[in-house]
Amino acid sequence: MEIRLAAPLQRDSIVDGEGIRAVVWTQGCTHNCFGCHNPETHDFGGGFLVDIEELKQDIKSLTEETGVTFSGGDPFCQMVACRELAKFCHECGLNVWCYTGYTYEKLMEMSKNNENVIPFLEEIDVLIDGPFIMKQKSYDVKFRGSKNQRVIDVKKSLKTGEVVEIKKYQYKEKNDPEEKKEEIYI
Ligand code: SF4
Repeated sequence: MEIRLAAPLQRDSIVDGEGIRAVVWTQGCTHNCFGCHNPETHDFGGGFLVDIEELKQDIKSLTEETGVTFSGGDPFCQMVACRELAKFCHECGLNVWCYTGYTYEKLMEMSKNNENVIPFLEEIDVLIDGPFIMKQKSYDVKFRGSKNQRVIDVKKSLKTGEVVEIKKYQYKEKNDPEEKKEEIYI
């Protein structure tokens, strides 16, 4: 099986999720978010094809990294290959984060007609969901570009049937009473 990539496996990233991570940069995205940082990754004919067995060897050789992040592009445009790789990451003891331009709710809707959505989600620990929205761009939100994007605990979300955000990364408006409460009691 092949996967279309925008770049070779990146090592030593500290900005694409917790810890030191490797990044699989997938090629191809349909969302076309205004202000996207990686417009060269949108074209489904761009980048290059690589056999996933070859990529598995690169993942197997990681020594410093504790996890692998799937980014792009949108990894959900290549669900079958990404799922196979994510499963392999778990077998190697690496945790899996994934970015997507789809919201979690949209993925659930898609899963009714696409049998590949849930198996891929089942191999993801943390999902950062939703498109990049320029009007909501913020430097206050960690690991993502705009406030609408959420850092989601996928296992808990699949188990409960609703979106469970990882609390420490949850965005709170400055005038949110909960935020004030935290400021007072810390
Ligand atoms: S989903 Fe990501 S890669 Fe795709 S257009 Fe939006 S920001 Fe760019």
